[in-house]
Amino acid sequence: MTTVYDRLGVSTVINAVGPSTRLSGGVMRLEVAEAMVQASQYCVDMAFLQARASEIISKYTGSEAGYVTSGAAAALLLGTAACVTGMDPLKMNRLPDTSGMKNEVIMARSHRNFYDHAVRSVGIKLVEIGIADRFSGAGVRDVESWEYGAAITERTAAVVYVAYPHTLPRLEDVCTVAHAHGIPVLVDAAGQLPPNSNLQRFITEGADLVSFSGGKAIGGPQSSGFLCGSRDLIASAALQHLDLDILPELWNPPADLIDRSRLPGAPQHGIGRPCKVGKEEIVGLLTALRLFVEEDVIKRYQRWLELMLELKRSCGELPHAQIDLISDRKRSGIPIVRLELDEDQSGITAIELIKSLQDGNPAIAANPISVDEGIVIFGPTCLKNGEPTIIGNRLKELLNI
Ligand SMILES: *Cc1c(COP(=O)(O)O)cnc(C)c1O
Repeated sequence: MTTVYDRLGVSTVINAVGPSTRLSGGVMRLEVAEAMVQASQYCVDMAFLQARASEIISKYTGSEAGYVTSGAAAALLLGTAACVTGMDPLKMNRLPDTSGMKNEVIMARSHRNFYDHAVRSVGIKLVEIGIADRFSGAGVRDVESWEYGAAITERTAAVVYVAYPHTLPRLEDVCTVAHAHGIPVLVDAAGQLPPNSNLQRFITEGADLVSFSGGKAIGGPQSSGFLCGSRDLIASAALQHLDLDILPELWNPPADLIDRSRLPGAPQHGIGRPCKVGKEEIVGLLTALRLFVEEDVIKRYQRWLELMLELKRSCGELPHAQIDLISDRKRSGIPIVRLELDEDQSGITAIELIKSLQDGNPAIAANPISVDEGIVIFGPTCLKNGEPTIIGNRLKELLNI
């Protein structure tokens, strides 16, 4: 079959990394794609579509409200803006000029990463705390929750917390300290699914806002994500994202998303306007989220496991390489294949092997996260049936069998 990519003359990639943005994310279920096609054939009032999305997201996350964004990074930008301005439309109009506002955001040094461009782009000053000597190997400690309290001033707008399974200090402790000073906590949980329980976990632990990616494990459109959290902060985020090119007499936002009676007037287009999200993405995300929650987690795991078993089988015995299936359902919820090279004997290093896979036809993307230890990792979440065998055959070729 000739695909749209053939017509464009762009090669497709066998993606054994996972839903990485650089590799266009994952492969959407047809049910999601079909919902997007249907959505594209009608016009709706975007505020009302978002109000319904809010209800649905709240149901899944246990939060007061929710909002669909163009990704988890966009959700961080909108969440930060909401914490800085609250419901003040004049402040919304002024961003990213934050002079005279609460404009400091506290982050642990060990949580810093380049997605926090989204936080900084609101015009805030990032206040870094702690030194995680456990990462340098020189020690065992990281920032402690009392240090958050010590960094809070009258200028503090929010605490941003990046959630990984190993993140310290515990979110509950950070929330307790921040809330004692009346400061909201915004959690970046972009890729923290599965396990499904994480949809509710951060809200339960006290987060005021949580950002998730729609294009990762949920399987929604690549340019989707969502925020969930407190009703007021979500209302502020919505006000700084929705298109507000409308006469005041005609502006009639859904009251459960934006309580107009609390505003002196409507703000103009906000700082979130460049992160526009389409009706197709909103409907796609909501459909994918429903399918993700409804899917039997054991069956999903089984499907991934079979792809990884197919890869291990199709490699057979490779010389100077140890191939293991890591099927640790508790830890990450995603089985992987780990290929460890004896680099002295194999005549090829792990990074060279990944480069050769990438340069082949078809191109195969493998995860380089452990190449320093001579390890290449293959993941199942973006693979289609049959692709593991293509990878196995290519590995045999490259490792000279
Ligand atoms: C992937 C990721 C993001 C960005 O998510 P998008 O949905 O691509 O915007 C932000 N933070 C972390 C920690 C991530 O892993």
